[in-house]
Amino acid sequence: MKKRNKQIFTVIFIFVILIALGLIYMTYMLDKIEANASNSIKTIVKNDASNLNKEIEDQKAILESITNKIIIDNTINKEEIFEMYEKSDITSKFIRMAIMYEDGTTITNDGYKVDYSDEIENFFSNNQIHVSENRVSKIDGKEINIYSKALEVDGEKIAILLIVTTESYKDIFSNKIFEGKGFSYIVDKTGVIVVNANRKIKNGNLLEAIEQILKNSEKEKFIAIQNTIKDNLNNNISGENILETISGKYYMVYEPIGENEWTIFTFIPSSAIASEANSALLTTFIVSIVIILVFVFISIYIIVTNNKRQKQLYEYAYIDPVTKKGNVYFFREKGQEILEKNIPDLYVLILDINKFKMINKAYGYKIGDNILFGVGEELQKIFKENNSLICRYSNDFFAVLFESNNITKLLNKVVKNVENLKLKNNSYNLSINIGVYKIKKEDTDITQVLDKAIIAHSISKGNVFDKYHIYDEKIEKELEEESKIENEMNNALLEKEFKVYYQPKIYTNTEKLYGAEALVRWQHNGELIPPNKFIPLFEKNRFILKLDLYIFEQVCKDMKNWKEKYGKEPVISVNVSRQHFMEENFLEKYAMITAKYGINPNNIDLEITESAAVNDGIDIIEIMKKMKKLGFLISIDDFGTGYSSLSMLQDMPVDIIKIDKSFVNIIGKNEKNIVDYILYIAKELNLKTIAEGVETKKQIEYLLEKGCDIIQGYYYSKPLQVNEFESYLI
Ligand code: C2E
Ligand code: CA
Ligand code: CA
Repeated sequence: MKKRNKQIFTVIFIFVILIALGLIYMTYMLDKIEANASNSIKTIVKNDASNLNKEIEDQKAILESITNKIIIDNTINKEEIFEMYEKSDITSKFIRMAIMYEDGTTITNDGYKVDYSDEIENFFSNNQIHVSENRVSKIDGKEINIYSKALEVDGEKIAILLIVTTESYKDIFSNKIFEGKGFSYIVDKTGVIVVNANRKIKNGNLLEAIEQILKNSEKEKFIAIQNTIKDNLNNNISGENILETISGKYYMVYEPIGENEWTIFTFIPSSAIASEANSALLTTFIVSIVIILVFVFISIYIIVTNNKRQKQLYEYAYIDPVTKKGNVYFFREKGQEILEKNIPDLYVLILDINKFKMINKAYGYKIGDNILFGVGEELQKIFKENNSLICRYSNDFFAVLFESNNITKLLNKVVKNVENLKLKNNSYNLSINIGVYKIKKEDTDITQVLDKAIIAHSISKGNVFDKYHIYDEKIEKELEEESKIENEMNNALLEKEFKVYYQPKIYTNTEKLYGAEALVRWQHNGELIPPNKFIPLFEKNRFILKLDLYIFEQVCKDMKNWKEKYGKEPVISVNVSRQHFMEENFLEKYAMITAKYGINPNNIDLEITESAAVNDGIDIIEIMKKMKKLGFLISIDDFGTGYSSLSMLQDMPVDIIKIDKSFVNIIGKNEKNIVDYILYIAKELNLKTIAEGVETKKQIEYLLEKGCDIIQGYYYSKPLQVNEFESYLI
């Protein structure tokens, strides 16, 4: 799974967990709310009961005070009694007052006459105040309750009735709570309803009604509840139950009022509680969901933007903006992973574009960038099927890690396609060099592997014919050697470890000394290192510039010595590396040194190899002219091995031609000898000739016969130390 998806999954997971927790919390709260609700119902009912009790007590007290007054005043004059009632401030509590006579005739204060003969038993029962159950008023059809007290004045029996509307009790019930869904009753100890608050019950008996309701539930349960209620009613004890009915669950709470052995019953349907609780919970739930959703969205937003940023950072860190390929860090990281898989036939390649600076200069940086991009694309195309990893390693360097079982074919294709790069409608001729390393099992480090490809590249670098080089162990040894030499060369110069040896040059006909060639030797740790071991390297790292000057100065010193010591001034030749020709003023330095030692430049011969003389891009003729102007002699060294043309030779102000040893070697072995030809040309151009590497008498005889002027070679002498050479000067 991608990192981002993982994070989003986590957020959604947390989201689900939170919702689940919310639901658990909700059910827990619902239970709690229900428990709380039943507590509150109890409290409410207790309150109702005590309020009702108080109210009834108050009303009873009023009736009591009225009857007392009648007894005290000793009058049953109805006008007087009604007047007393009407003048008092109690009228608001009752709807009317009535006097009931023994025969049941009842006269109200507001002028009605009703027959209550069927109630005589109730209203005249004793001297106690009687509170009736609710009934329909015979006067106005309202539901009423009647307080009655019988009394006797002067032997005459009457009952005083105070009438209240049942409605007025209902006001005392608090069952308006729970959205008016609750309902209450006041019942007597047998369950007969005395006051019916909001709901009519068929037979007027609550116990019977409850029985009806409970019939559907389990028998034992029902009997148990029924019995408890009955007992409690009898003993004026409060209680509570949850009644399961077909129309739902009800909380039933009852509390004795403390009057008339009445008990108040309140029923609240659980749906009323739940709906109240639910709406509270729903609000909480919605708020939580909103909060959670906000959290989820913020989290996802953070994850997405963070990932974007990470991606950007990744690109900054790992993607090369020009080629859109990975950069060196990318290559190292991914390459290391691939390396660790131990894939056979895995190669790493380093490719660079030669003289890319010139391309930038010639076409501008924009096109330069396009070319780099194009090279990246081309490489991708070529290595498409090689499980490759391609990166721009640095500037104009690319690195590719790839699998191949036909490396030469692949490399040839790279050279061909990249060197003739096609970009849109243009094609560019590039010159590239490639270094390749075949990865071995024991290679574990991508940087080391890359280093080897870089080494191989350095061998091929700048080589026009060898476009790619595949690393082999031999190179490494050579390079090690080279780096050792490089570390030591400067010190060697200071320590004067470089020595000049002189190889005599002898006139062919007289066998007398003509002069000598100065050849360098490196005396290092007791051994004498020949120049072919270090000159090529010094030419590469340009240390040769210093070395040649040093040798030249040594030669001048020696020549000055000989002049003073022996009065002899032989012509001494020194080798001048082609590297000097790229330096400005190098000849001035040479001239200054000759001047410093008082040496006539006429006695110094500067040897320039033929290949150096044809080096294009340098105006060698100009340099030679300058040499001549300063008075130096000029030799063309290794003549015949380079590619100089006759016409060039004609234009060069040279003095001497040195016939290369390879031609001397084949004297007598070949019928048509190139030596003859060279000698012929030299004569034609009026140049002196020196044969190099002459080792045999036979060679000398031949050269003498053909008119070669001077001989240099082991036949006469190897290069000698100064003191040895001096014997030639005596
Ligand atoms: P080179 O200029 O062609 O020098 C002639 C080489 O042939 C010398 O090798 C010399 O020792 C060798 N040689 C001469 N006669 C014979 C012979 O009869 N048989 C054989 N087998 N070899 C003979 P050396 O001294 O080893 O120098 C090698 C090359 O190093 C020189 O080739 C020259 O190109 C270069 N070199 C030597 N000293 C210097 C120097 O001071 N400066 C520069 N730039 N190059 C130098
Ligand atoms: Ca030479
Ligand atoms: Ca030579």
